[in-house]
Amino acid sequence: MSNQLNAPLGVGEKLKLAIQKSGRLSEDSIKLLKDCGIDLRNVKDRLKTEADNFPLEIFFLRDDDIPQYVEDAVADIGFVGENVLYEKNKKAEVVEQLGFGKCRLSIGVKRSDDYTDASFLNGKKIATSYPVLLQKFLNENNVTAEIHEISGSVEIAPGIGLADAVCDLVSSGSTLFMNGLKETETILQSQAVLIENKNLSEAKQQLLNKLLFRIQSVKKAKKNKYVLLNAPNDRLEQIISLLPGMKSPTVLPLATEGWSSVHSVISESDFWDIIEQLKANGAQGILVVPIEKMIL
Ligand code: ATP
Ligand code: ZN
Repeated sequence: MSNQLNAPLGVGEKLKLAIQKSGRLSEDSIKLLKDCGIDLRNVKDRLKTEADNFPLEIFFLRDDDIPQYVEDAVADIGFVGENVLYEKNKKAEVVEQLGFGKCRLSIGVKRSDDYTDASFLNGKKIATSYPVLLQKFLNENNVTAEIHEISGSVEIAPGIGLADAVCDLVSSGSTLFMNGLKETETILQSQAVLIENKNLSEAKQQLLNKLLFRIQSVKKAKKNKYVLLNAPNDRLEQIISLLPGMKSPTVLPLATEGWSSVHSVISESDFWDIIEQLKANGAQGILVVPIEKMIL
C-alpha cells in the first residue's frame, strides 16, 4: 500500500493564520503562540512565515484586512480585535476570546460640554475610524449626527475644529484627557478574538481544534496560581477547606513533627482573600507560583 493511502487525515496540510504585522496586537499574538509551544521563524520584515513545530503558516497583515482574508479563505483563521471584526462585518466565525488587546470604543466630548445622554450628539459632527459601529449606536439612540470618517489621530479632531465629538478606541482614557476630552459613553467592549473561515475542511478543523486546546490550556493557567504552604496539623482541616484545588489539595508530612506541606491551585481572582485567611489560620512559608499550562 502506498504511503499516501496510509496517511492520516490532513497530513501535509497547514493551517493558515493571519496576525497583525505591527501594532498593538502583534507582540501578544506572537507571545500567545509561543506560550502554546509554537515557535516562529524569522518574524521580522516578513509577509509570511512557518512555525517550526506545528503545521501552521502565519501571514502578517494590517489588522483591518484580517476579517476579509479570513472570509475569502486566504487565511483559515485570524487573531483580530472585536472592534475591527464588527466594523468590517465580514463572514467569519468567532471561536475564542484571547484575553489581550482589551479596549473600548467610546464617545468623547469636550471636557467643558454638558453631556447628559446620547441626545447631546443630535446635529453634531463626530470624528471616527468606526463609521459602521457609530452609525449603529446613533440609530439605536434615535440620534441624527454627521459622521466624519478619519483613519488616525481621531482624538485631535475637536481641538482643531474638525468635529464636535469623537468615537474612538480607549484603554486608559489618557489620550482623550490629554486632548481636552472626556469619555461619556462606551459603545463596544473589545478584545482580541480568534476567528475562523466558515468552510474549513475537516483536516483544518482538526488542526484548529489542536491549537484551540493549547490556547485554552494557556488561558486557564494564566487565571490560576499554584500555592505551596506549611500548615500545623491541628489546623489542617480549616486550611484545606480554604483551598479548592483541581480535585483536592495534596498533603505531605513535613520532617518537622506536627506540620504538613499543602499544595493546591487557586484562582488569581481569589488569591489575596485566600492568602489572608490562610495566614490567619497559621499557614507559613506560603509560595505562590505561576502555572505554565493547565490541562484538566
Ligand atoms: P494597522 O497598521 O495594523 O492597521 P492600527 O493602527 O489600525 O494598525 P493599532 O493601533 O496597532 O492598529 O491597534 C490594533 C488593535 O489593538 C485595535 O484595533 C484594538 O483592537 C486593539 N487596541 C487595544 N488597546 C487599544 C487602544 N488603547 N487604542 C487602540 N487600539 C487598541
Ligand atoms: Zn488598523
